[in-house]
Amino acid sequence: MNLVFLGPPGAGKGTQAKRLAQELKLKHISTGDILREAVKEGTPLGKKAKEYMDRGELVPDELIIALIEEVVPDSGGVILDGFPRTLEQAKALDAMFEKKGLSIDKVILFDAPDDAIVERLSGRRSCPSCGAVYHVKFNPPKENELCDTCGTKLVQREDDREEVVRKRLEVYRKQTAPLIEYYEAKGLLVRLDASKDIASVYRELESILN
Ligand code: ADP
Ligand code: ADP
Ligand code: ZN
Repeated sequence: MNLVFLGPPGAGKGTQAKRLAQELKLKHISTGDILREAVKEGTPLGKKAKEYMDRGELVPDELIIALIEEVVPDSGGVILDGFPRTLEQAKALDAMFEKKGLSIDKVILFDAPDDAIVERLSGRRSCPSCGAVYHVKFNPPKENELCDTCGTKLVQREDDREEVVRKRLEVYRKQTAPLIEYYEAKGLLVRLDASKDIASVYRELESILN
C-alpha cells in the first residue's frame, strides 16, 4: 500500500505516519526529516536546503524530486509524509510511480483549523538526536524536556518560531493546497478530521484504511 499524507504543517502527519508505518510495516518517508538530517550532517543537499528551510520556504523541486527518487523503494509500500508539496512534485511522483509500476492507493488530507495548527507548532519539541517529536501539552515526554527514547534534551525547531510559522502556512496555502484538487480529480483524496486528539485521529485513520 502506498499512501500520501497531505496537510498543513503541524497537522499531525508525522506523528500518525510513524505509528501507522510501524503497524502496517510501511516505509515512512518524511522529506522534512531527511532534509534536517542532511543539514545536520552538512551534506551538499543539506547546504543547499538550509536557507530555504530557515526562511520557511520550500526547497526547490529539482532537489526534492532527486531526493525522492533515491529513497522510494521499488516494492514494499510507503507513506509519503510531506511530499509532494507542489504540483510539479506531484507530477514527478506520478511519472516515477508509473515507471516503477507502483500506484498511490490513497491521499489522506489532514484537516485541522488554523488555531489548532498554530498551537501544535508552537508547543512542538523535537529530539535533535533521534528525531522523536513531542508536544509540551498534548504529547509531553515522561521526563521534563528529555527524549523518552534516548534521553537527549529536546529543542524547539528554528522554523517553529512564530514568524516562520506564518510564512510556512502561507506557502502551504499557495503552493501545496492546490494538490487537494489535483488528487480529488483523480479520486484519491480522503479527508481526515485531524482536529481531535492523537489517539482518535489514529483510530479514524485505521478505519479509513480498513
Ligand atoms: P512541517 O510538516 O512542520 O511543515 P517538514 O518537516 O515537513 O515540516 O518540512 C520542513 C521544511 O523542509 C519545509 O518548511 C521545507 O522548507 C522543507 N521541505 C520538506 N518537504 C519538502 C518538499 N516536499 N518540498 C519542498 N520543501 C520541503
Ligand atoms: P506535521 O508532521 O504534520 O508537521 P507533527 O506530527 O509533527 O505534524 O505534529 C505537530 C505537533 O502537534 C507535535 O508537537 C505533535 O506532538 C502534536 N500533535 C500531533 N497530532 C496531534 C493531535 N491530534 N492533537 C494534538 N497535538 C498533536
Ligand atoms: Zn531522542
